[in-house]
Amino acid sequence: MINPLRGMKDLAGSDAAKFNYFLDVASSVAKRYGYSYLETPILEDTALFKRSVGESSDIVNKEMYQFTDKGGNDVCMRPEGTAGVVRYFVSNKLDRAGGKYRYYYHGPMFRYERPQKGRLREFHQFGCESFGEASVYEDYMTIELIATIFDRLGIGYTLEINSLGCSECMPGYKESLVSYLESKKELLCEDCNRRIDTNPIRVLDCKVQSCKDELGDAPKITDNLCASCNKDFAKLKELLEQNGIKYSVNKNLVRGLDYYSKTAFEFVSSEIGAQNAIAGGGRYDRLVEFLDGKPTSAVGFAIGIERVMDLITLEDNKKEGYYIGAMDEVALDRVIGVAKELKVFDKAVVEYTPRKLKAHLKAADRVDARYCLVIGENELQNGTLWIKDLVQKQEETITLEELLKRNKQ
Ligand SMILES: [Zn+2]
Ligand SMILES: [Zn+2]
Repeated sequence: MINPLRGMKDLAGSDAAKFNYFLDVASSVAKRYGYSYLETPILEDTALFKRSVGESSDIVNKEMYQFTDKGGNDVCMRPEGTAGVVRYFVSNKLDRAGGKYRYYYHGPMFRYERPQKGRLREFHQFGCESFGEASVYEDYMTIELIATIFDRLGIGYTLEINSLGCSECMPGYKESLVSYLESKKELLCEDCNRRIDTNPIRVLDCKVQSCKDELGDAPKITDNLCASCNKDFAKLKELLEQNGIKYSVNKNLVRGLDYYSKTAFEFVSSEIGAQNAIAGGGRYDRLVEFLDGKPTSAVGFAIGIERVMDLITLEDNKKEGYYIGAMDEVALDRVIGVAKELKVFDKAVVEYTPRKLKAHLKAADRVDARYCLVIGENELQNGTLWIKDLVQKQEETITLEELLKRNKQ
């Protein structure tokens, strides 16, 4: 017997229903905000992720499904979605064309991590990326979009925001942070020590309690922003307040990836344990440049679909549509013909084996049909159908024409 690989899961039954429901809601909201669907390949040149996600990140260092294909190419299964969308943007020269572009995507991502609750090796993300809009209003609109998705799904959240500064104010801040961290070196964990040299901002995000305790009075980027970053951050807060989106400023909120600047945000749920971020994103004005494009403003986010699915409650299996079967072999062709007509407006599941009425009623129940429709020799001769409404518990004999007319009303 062959089972799925470790950290990979089949999606079936009510999980599959939740998954599709999430995608329906999220896609329709994204379209309303002017985003169009983009599908990029799962397999990309490894260099794409080395240069976008960054060689110092855990993702690139330890977690990539990276291999040499039969043509000798160094390839990688995408560990996240943004890099591929930016690669599309640049390889189609949209950075040179100018203008504004908004894309949404969804699909599987792959990271070779130790599987645990809420963390799979194959997981799914839904995301949006907006290019060519430098205004902080777009940052606000992106957050509003996510809030709308969660509201429509009935998912509660808290929103945390921060500003990560820009190429003007970040370098100076980084210097003062590094010298502060150097002074605390012996007190910080091994990961933090490594990050002081490679990615000092991420030290602020360390989950080790002793590090958290030590870093309480570390310099904060929000206290060191340049005038433009300060103005944008104030405007973002104002827009959120004006439009009734509750938030809190988390000065230690940094994104795991290197290319973010200015606005950063996370939607957090307290209902799913320690892995509690359900969406995250921000502005990444430098990434297009990292991938050989013309400098282009960009902002985006991703939602972890598996994490959100745990928070969705669907109504119990509703009875819907038709189950349709024959009592006698001769009626079977008629059953097929009637089912075809019914499928125009509703679900119609056909049973091919002729059975007694009682057996059909039981089977109709098992497929959660609202109506059990049966045709026997009598009905065939009279040109009628026998139907039982399994919710109202009423039965009747009518013609197909009548039934179709009723469903048109
Ligand atoms: Zn700045
Ligand atoms: Zn640490």
